[in-house]
Amino acid sequence: MLDGKCVFCKIIKGEIPAGIVYEDDKMCVFKDLEPKAKVHLLAVPKTHFKLLAEMGEEEKNILAYMLGKIPAIAAENGCGNGYRLIINQGDDAGQTVFHLHIHILGGEQLGDL
Ligand code: AMP
Ligand code: ZN
Repeated sequence: MLDGKCVFCKIIKGEIPAGIVYEDDKMCVFKDLEPKAKVHLLAVPKTHFKLLAEMGEEEKNILAYMLGKIPAIAAENGCGNGYRLIINQGDDAGQTVFHLHIHILGGEQLGDL
């Protein structure tokens, strides 16, 4: 289920443009608008939920599916030498978009944080 007000749901529906690098029936991967590394992608499930804490069995299966796909997607997009995954959760983490997403950062030597 998608949320009409959510920016990532709008990208999934094609209502706003994004640099989509991979898409299938369960997930979408696109370029972050404000990249924090040479390669900065966001992997999002094609179902709207906010937090890991909200996941039921279906969401857990989608997340496992996404983690299985990410290594090949990262390699194909310039992260063959390594990459970092980040999932911000809630206010203290600075989460700004409340549709679960996995940051994929790489394409260069990353710092400690
Ligand atoms: P977070 O702080 O984990 O919630 O990260 C949200 C990320 O979404 C940020 O890195 C933003 O730059 C990115 N973002 C927000 N709107 C868009 C958009 N329309 N297209 C691509 N990335 C976006
Ligand atoms: Zn959404």
